[in-house]
Amino acid sequence: MSRRLADAPAIVASVRRFVDKEVIPAASGFEHADAYPHELVARMRELGLFGSLVPTAYGGLGLDVRTYAQVIEEICRGFMSLAGVINSHTMAALIVLHHGTEEQRRRLLPRFASGEARGGLCLTEPHAGSDVQAIRTEARRDGDRYLISGAKMFVTNGREGNTFALLALTDPGASPRHSGMSCFIVEKGAPGLEVVKSITKLGYKGVDTAELLFDRFPCSAANLVGGIEGRGFKHVLSGLETGRINIAARAVGVAQAALEEAARAATETATAALADIALRVDGARLLTSWAAGMKDRGERCDLEAGMAKLYASESSQEAAAGALRILGGRGPATAGVVERLYRDTPLMVIGEGTNEIQRTIIARNLLQRHGERLGALTSLEAEPEERRLMALAVRQLVERELGLASVEDDRADRFPAASLDRLGELGLFGAVVPPDSGGLGLDGAAVALIIEEIGRGSATVAAVLSSHLDATEAVLRLGTVEQRRRFLPALASGTLRGGTLSSLNGLRSRATRVGDDLVVSGPGLVASPGRHANLFALRAEAENGLRVVLLEAGQHGFTLVEPFWTMGRRGGDLWRVELAECLVPARQVLGGGRGLDARDLAELDGASRVREAWPRPPSRRRCATRSSAPPSACRSASTRRSSSSSPTWPRPSRCPGS
Ligand SMILES: Cc1cc2nc3c(=O)[nH]c(=O)nc-3n(C[C@H](O)[C@H](O)[C@H](O)COP(=O)(O)OP(=O)(O)OC[C@H]3O[C@@H](n4cnc5c(N)ncnc54)[C@H](O)[C@@H]3O)c2cc1C
Repeated sequence: MSRRLADAPAIVASVRRFVDKEVIPAASGFEHADAYPHELVARMRELGLFGSLVPTAYGGLGLDVRTYAQVIEEICRGFMSLAGVINSHTMAALIVLHHGTEEQRRRLLPRFASGEARGGLCLTEPHAGSDVQAIRTEARRDGDRYLISGAKMFVTNGREGNTFALLALTDPGASPRHSGMSCFIVEKGAPGLEVVKSITKLGYKGVDTAELLFDRFPCSAANLVGGIEGRGFKHVLSGLETGRINIAARAVGVAQAALEEAARAATETATAALADIALRVDGARLLTSWAAGMKDRGERCDLEAGMAKLYASESSQEAAAGALRILGGRGPATAGVVERLYRDTPLMVIGEGTNEIQRTIIARNLLQRHGERLGALTSLEAEPEERRLMALAVRQLVERELGLASVEDDRADRFPAASLDRLGELGLFGAVVPPDSGGLGLDGAAVALIIEEIGRGSATVAAVLSSHLDATEAVLRLGTVEQRRRFLPALASGTLRGGTLSSLNGLRSRATRVGDDLVVSGPGLVASPGRHANLFALRAEAENGLRVVLLEAGQHGFTLVEPFWTMGRRGGDLWRVELAECLVPARQVLGGGRGLDARDLAELDGASRVREAWPRPPSRRRCATRSSAPPSACRSASTRRSSSSSPTWPRPSRCPGS
């Protein structure tokens, strides 16, 4: 049920075991009693989770953010409140790690990592939440210490914690206001700090959320983060990306738990609702992993962290509500788990910057960031070099030529022959064909990236190329050795142009055996493209299961009847087909006498849908069966260039603003 990322390290497996064995059985008890889960927190300490992001040199686990997000997801699958115990703690530790002096790192980080120092964040005040710059808490210098006065609200771990990163004004008259703010590591112990009250909440129970009152509370000047006043606002802001990724991961964990509960209860009639939840969970997980990966590579990711936080938190709320509905009357029952999941979700919508604020951040980034055009914000930085260069080369071709040509082709309702020829020069008709058959041998992720770039310029060109690749993949995956040898080189070079035949009315084409051959008939078929392809892949139902056959253009019994006009994708050359008693010789039945198994079809459909969606690849992992284009394939591709104005392939110059 869980589609966890496959490359999870051992710590994630340890936390999963801990959650399954110890957290899940105990969570509801702690939650309903709103009791602090001391035993579970002690176990997290034993697992080293208080030092998750603290480098090993300072006694921590030194995890990367992507792994940390997986750890948090696992914890929240069991009990979201537990993540609150280590999250703001981790944020405080990160402020010291990234902005503290070396003396502060050596003194404080080992204590954070061991859990001896239990951290929290003191930013919010009764009148200042989203607008952090409105804080009023002051820290006045008094010899070798500061005296802190003010009220801090909603402090997670405020009662149980002992070491807080606190934002205060050291220069209340400064302009801009944030230049008068400093960050301190405040340690409990001296008089002048009162936990006024614990705030009872709708959900996120068990972990303490407190209001703290500081009245001339002494904090050593040695604990002014970085040792210089006026930098505190930047210090706390810099941690927010990780904080938002953390909230997103928490939301994924809660949504995953909702999915598991819903799946256990789902009846045949609730399958659509279940599918919607699963879609949300995986979408949220991928966005979270994407943002975390960027953070680990040191890329700017405020946009992506904001997207992950917003999407995942909204998704967790929808997933929990969806699970409630699927469970019917059992959903709201407090004996179950789902009502708790439902109550836990608002925290993630509100915490680490409300979702309204995230929308503002996302929109502002879309308009300003790096000067990139809208819709081109997906980073290629994590892609292997060759794949990145290929995608950029295609982007260049699209920007220079395809985009403009597609406008004219669309107006004239004209097949984009010239644009497709240009793609042919880059070898893209052979994108999925192995190099030993004359292709580029790209993996699915590389092809998806390239189709996405083409689709930005022309949906029609992307669709025609996708149809060709669909037919090619059918030969590649299902064909016999002889069929592959016969068809693949011609498909790779573009001498043979592939197309697909699909049913408009959902009815299957039928195949009847005549000796070793098949006779196929099919109602309501559309060829894509029609006149510009000469080898079509068709699925037909035979008495012993599905077959995929190849039809040649003009073959007896296979007629293009009339154009099939559509609102969009003009110039796509779609044609209605009449297929009546068409004899398909055995050499054109893919795989010979072998029936197709479900896996063959699923693989074929999966590859096709990925191209159809023009997505970002869901995983950074390379396909296990085929590698990215080896240098030799790239070289052979480059020799196909005919025009000196061609974009460099696979070594493009930087595209504007990328
Ligand atoms: C359980 C819990 C734990 C928390 N833990 C901590 C903690 O450990 N440390 C800490 O410092 N804080 C913590 N917080 C505080 C949290 O970060 C704030 O609640 C949050 O930032 C929102 O601030 P606010 O409550 O003052 O709401 P407000 O900022 O007053 O917002 C109220 C509404 O107005 C909207 N709004 C405000 N400004 C804008 C704008 N510019 N544009 C559009 N809409 C806007 C908001 O989206 C929201 O819908 C916690 C909160 C909760 C509920």
